[in-house]
Amino acid sequence: MGQMRLVVVGAGGRMGRALTRAVTETTGATVVAAIEREGSEFLGKDVGDLAGTGSLGVPVTDDPLSAFAASDGVLDFTAPAASLWFAELAAQARIVHVIGTTGWAEGQDEPLKAAARHARIVKSGNMSLGVNLLASLVRKAAAALDADFDIEVLEMHHKHKVDAPSGTALLLGEAAAQGRGLDLAAHSVRSRDGIMDPRKTGDIGFATLRGGSVIGEHSVIFAGEGERIELTHRAEDRQLFARGAVKAALWGFDQKPGFYSMADVLGLDS
Ligand code: NAP
Repeated sequence: MGQMRLVVVGAGGRMGRALTRAVTETTGATVVAAIEREGSEFLGKDVGDLAGTGSLGVPVTDDPLSAFAASDGVLDFTAPAASLWFAELAAQARIVHVIGTTGWAEGQDEPLKAAARHARIVKSGNMSLGVNLLASLVRKAAAALDADFDIEVLEMHHKHKVDAPSGTALLLGEAAAQGRGLDLAAHSVRSRDGIMDPRKTGDIGFATLRGGSVIGEHSVIFAGEGERIELTHRAEDRQLFARGAVKAALWGFDQKPGFYSMADVLGLDS
């Protein structure tokens, strides 16, 4: 392969701009199209000007169908409804679809898995090496510590984030549940308010903080009698996620159609 031809969808968003910058810094990949929704203020603007890389000669359009047909892969950090649609189009075009979007409802992986019969989909709530390594450590710690260690996941993000708990918090909660051999949906406690029953053994609690410009901080706390273990990741720059997404796209180029995670890309156990 020469250059992998990539489309950035949601190109005017915080992550969209970071993705454009990451592609321009990567040997072997190039931005060939940029997409925003119909009526967006960004239509017609040059994607490089939006991302601060200088003009790339690629104007933002609202026509993903034509863009996907002339590309090898899509970088997508948008919203679940948009990502579902882009997955169908990626399947038609038989290309790579990297999905960083979070805020998914229960069961929404099913249509993505159907699309993955033809597309190579890499989906992860967090594209950084650090968080995926953390998930692997959390799985091991949850398996090693007995059920007397209560597991809580604490996260903080910037004030603009709309979904809670974060995709990363859920990814870490899932790793803890796997380590314990539990079904996360049946054991997760997503909010606490007022007088309630005491904490049940085996529950996995989530607490969410929002404010300022925090890129993303996550701690998994194992609280036992008289001692506490805390595993923490702090993201300091959203380029981290963008670089991970470009790496996933390049990795996906050589794979068969399928539904993959960032752990597959990074060769970590999952
Ligand atoms: P953002 O700044 O709001 O950007 C999202 C962009 O997608 C916006 O420009 C939005 O346009 C666009 N969009 C939405 N629906 C669209 C559609 N149908 N067609 C084309 N464009 C569409 O949000 P962000 O901070 O970049 O985050 C985006 C997503 O990535 C969130 O789910 C976030 O949690 C996730 N994220 C994941 C990771 C990871 O590592 N997996 C890391 C960071 C963020 P409008 O403004 O017009 O809606």
